[in-house]
Amino acid sequence: MYDIIIIGAGVSEIFTAYTLIHENKNLRIKIIEKGKTLENRVCPIKSNLKNCLNCDICNKFMGFGGMGRSEGKYNYTNDFGGYLGKIIGDKKALKYMDEVDKILCKFGGDKAPFYSTENITLRKKVEKHGFRLLTTKTRHLGTKLSLEILNKMHEVLKDKIDICFEKDIKR
Ligand SMILES: Cc1cc2nc3c(=O)[nH]c(=O)nc-3n(C[C@H](O)[C@H](O)[C@H](O)COP(=O)(O)OP(=O)(O)OC[C@H]3O[C@@H](n4cnc5c(N)ncnc54)[C@H](O)[C@@H]3O)c2cc1C
Repeated sequence: MYDIIIIGAGVSEIFTAYTLIHENKNLRIKIIEKGKTLENRVCPIKSNLKNCLNCDICNKFMGFGGMGRSEGKYNYTNDFGGYLGKIIGDKKALKYMDEVDKILCKFGGDKAPFYSTENITLRKKVEKHGFRLLTTKTRHLGTKLSLEILNKMHEVLKDKIDICFEKDIKR
């Protein structure tokens, strides 16, 4: 019996599960993921997408870490990437993004530099032509560190919650 069942082990679900167990250690949580464990996520053709084999379960996009397993670029902005700011307000959305970054840093994310893409000269230039320059604060982990962090998060989560792989939830 579980209090919460989370479908998928993508980045959103991993951070959600981590936050939940920190807020209430007694919660019984299960994650059900249709893809594979991190170490078994190997694309049969590596990165040559021209000859994609169209596997039913794509190891590049599915499995522990979901699509967030790749280069680990964490953009903290309301300018793009979704509509959370429009729904709950930009300030609150940024506060949540800050919480995500704190968790990321607990697992070593602070090894990657935090930078802003803000470019005032370029912004002024594009605005003159009626465009808007989208900006973000970014922590770009890179593939190696991204994998390291996901591995560490898995180590912590697997002892506290039940994670089941290769199970596709149909209904
Ligand atoms: C090419 C590409 C580049 C990107 N670059 C960036 C970037 O630089 N920065 C950035 O912030 N974002 C980027 N994104 C977006 C980012 O990857 C997604 O926003 C993020 O992965 C969404 O997280 P998620 O957990 O919601 O979904 P996902 O990462 O997709 O995870 C969902 C998980 O649920 C599993 N699942 C789905 N359905 C079921 C089911 N029925 N039963 C069981 N399991 C299921 C899937 O297998 C998957 O593992 C990029 C996306 C793509 C495709």
